Amino acid sequence: TSIVSAAGEAEERALESALRPKNLADFVGQARVRRQLSLVLEASRIRERTADHVLLSGPPGLGKTTLAMIIAAEMNAPLRISSGPAIQHAGDLAAILSSLTEGEILFLDEIHRMSRPAEEMLYMAMEDFRVDIVVGKGPGATAIPLDLPPFTLVGATTRAGLLPGPLRDRFGFTGHLEFYSTQELELVLRRSAMLLDLKISSAGFAEIAGRSRGTPRIANRLLRRVRDWALVHGIDEIDARSAAAALDMYEVDERGLDRLDREVLTALITKFGGGPVGLSTLAIAVGEETETVETVAEPYLVREGLLGRTPRGRIATPAAWEHLGLEMPASAAG
Ligand code: ATP
Repeated sequence: TSIVSAAGEAEERALESALRPKNLADFVGQARVRRQLSLVLEASRIRERTADHVLLSGPPGLGKTTLAMIIAAEMNAPLRISSGPAIQHAGDLAAILSSLTEGEILFLDEIHRMSRPAEEMLYMAMEDFRVDIVVGKGPGATAIPLDLPPFTLVGATTRAGLLPGPLRDRFGFTGHLEFYSTQELELVLRRSAMLLDLKISSAGFAEIAGRSRGTPRIANRLLRRVRDWALVHGIDEIDARSAAAALDMYEVDERGLDRLDREVLTALITKFGGGPVGLSTLAIAVGEETETVETVAEPYLVREGLLGRTPRGRIATPAAWEHLGLEMPASAAG
């Protein structure tokens, strides 16, 4: 977010939405989820029924919101967007649910952050397309049942494991989004560069993709920083060297690690001798929420082979010591 706030959030958001693929065919990567999802949608079209509820899980910026929009477009249905943190009372959810139209897609981002009473209301809505509106308080309270039109819930969460079992079970399909390969990110970048009318060499694309932390949102963001840099330096065609020079100015390294990633590794090594250390202790050491370290930083560090999960806690791998330019003592890790 530091890069975003520096450059004007509104403009960034407008650009981000302009770069969003509008249909499954334009959606790069995630081949497995795309295949599964397209089957779910196709089947519901044939049965002329609303599609099953869909849960999308994965680290931020991998395309959950984009997929929800694509589902709505493919089903030719309107889309309503809200999020767990915005729904604090069951009444908030009741208001949304009762105003849905038939076949509408309801996207709930960060669905694991919903309040308990809202969650319980959602169970019934998902299963029976019905909610009980409670009127009055105490012994005189009555529940008035309200039928809902059939709708499709698309829930997004950074980790499916954060959801209570009963909620998870009510989704007909769960798609796990994975980090993108460098090649896939290059495709995302090529498409975006075309839309932004930027000339970039193949090596230039590779340089940006390699630093994008497996994440399309970051790829697009870095692309805009490179575009700014090229503009200021009067460069027409961006090559690997100018891309690298531009990106060195921001806090992303050649391996795509951002500030939080590096802070986690640095704390793990300098404060805990490389571990093992418990996740919550590590989170306190970097001044972050445990959930943020677990769902944002850790998945990428594990994928990059820099951090290991053991029964006794998190450890820094030899590659992590090397990446930070630190000498690993013979006694460390394991
Ligand atoms: P969050 O969980 O933080 O809301 P998200 O997973 O919903 O993130 P999106 O907002 O869908 O992420 O995607 C972020 C940006 O990345 C979008 O602007 C979109 O253009 C781009 N993007 C995401 N996935 C793809 C993809 N598969 N192909 C091309 N562009 C993508």
